[in-house]
Amino acid sequence: MDLDKYVRNIPDFPKPGIQFKDITTLLKEGEALKYIIDHWRDRYADKNVDYIVATEARGFIFGTALAYALGIGFVPVRKPGKLPHDTLEMGYDLEYGTDKLEVHVDALEEGDRVVLIDDLLATGGTMEATAKLMDALKVEVVEAAFVIELNGLGGRERLAPHAVFSLLTYDEV
Ligand code: AMP
Repeated sequence: MDLDKYVRNIPDFPKPGIQFKDITTLLKEGEALKYIIDHWRDRYADKNVDYIVATEARGFIFGTALAYALGIGFVPVRKPGKLPHDTLEMGYDLEYGTDKLEVHVDALEEGDRVVLIDDLLATGGTMEATAKLMDALKVEVVEAAFVIELNGLGGRERLAPHAVFSLLTYDEV
């Protein structure tokens, strides 16, 4: 399926020079959303995945749908101060400044096998922090999967040696 035609490009959002990939137009297309989830479901169905782990907020949309399709549980990774129980936190660099992500300390057990989901891979900072949280919990990352990957920003390299899979890639950034 040509998913690209459903992605809306918004120039200079949220700031000048950034071309924002708006996935609300894609989410609205039932066939496109189904294609994405079914594709991932087929890819991971026989990989002994225990949980889907996704990052706030757009990762939750795709991640929970995939967990449901696979019949397995979902673990959220959230911005600081949102999770109510004890958390493990990981800082990561933004273009200007830093941010943090958190996961409940008891959300996963050593040896669990997870697939990481987010809508888009750019510099990889968000997913690297998520992968580091998984490493700290001694969880096995089967793959990090994205709907969209922006080439040339080093995201894929940054996540190595973790495997990366994306359904749509763009060269222009
Ligand atoms: P990064 O940490 O640089 O890989 O950025 C990935 C996160 O930022 C994802 O959760 C995306 O939703 C968001 N993001 C980064 N760049 C874009 C973009 N050009 N269009 C839409 N979302 C983006």
